[in-house]
Amino acid sequence: MQDDTFHDAVIDRDPATGLSSDPATGHPRPPRREFKARGSFVSRCEGCNLPVLNCLCPYRVTAESEAKVWLLTHPLEHYKPTNTGRLIVDLLSDTEVFTWYRTVPDERLLALLVDERYAPFVIFPDDQPDYADRVVDMEAVTAAKEGNRTPVFIILDGTWRQARRIFRKSPYLDRLPVLPLATPRLTRYRLRKPASAEHLCTAEVAIELLRQAGDGEAAELLDDYFDAFNDSYAASRRHEKIEAPTAAMRRLLARREGEREA
Ligand SMILES: [Zn+2]
Repeated sequence: MQDDTFHDAVIDRDPATGLSSDPATGHPRPPRREFKARGSFVSRCEGCNLPVLNCLCPYRVTAESEAKVWLLTHPLEHYKPTNTGRLIVDLLSDTEVFTWYRTVPDERLLALLVDERYAPFVIFPDDQPDYADRVVDMEAVTAAKEGNRTPVFIILDGTWRQARRIFRKSPYLDRLPVLPLATPRLTRYRLRKPASAEHLCTAEVAIELLRQAGDGEAAELLDDYFDAFNDSYAASRRHEKIEAPTAAMRRLLARREGEREA
């Protein structure tokens, strides 16, 4: 969840039709000015979608976690190369991604929400009184595990305003427990300007949730992968090539070496 200051090469089109349309109404609309935002003409790696100058592919690792992440992604967020939800998908292969449309809920998501194997939690701040009776904490996650259910963090992937809209306009989320993320962490995300340092991006939210839920190794690896993404992308924007890998990058390279030998 991030502030919407930068529209970095937003491709604001319907993936099915290729038409530019208003996601709320489905009505066609003229191409937005942001369509030619900076970054549109940068040569990008096909593997990681980052500028080729500092490609992320050498640092991609995989991990396992007990808790799972399902992303409910705003349609405008999917095509932003600065989106960090995809970092979670890269690392944890059983991460689910659903595109949010206000009027058309994803059938597969609806089915998974009533699947007894899972204990889904909507990640959202507890700052409004009208859903206070649904707010839980990490103890509920622990209790789910003890009951042999897989805890699932449903992260609303978009700007803060989009996330609030998803939370308010999705009746199928109304019966789920709401888990606010309590963390002293301040954002390290450098690719969009946050309204507040306390506003974490999607990957950072997942990192802190996994850490608190007991998936420490996955959290550390995702944190390193996020740092590598952040540093690589920021350097490319300055047109600088990273010559010496950062500490996080070196740890990821060592992990990959281990994965190859295993
Ligand atoms: Zn790449």
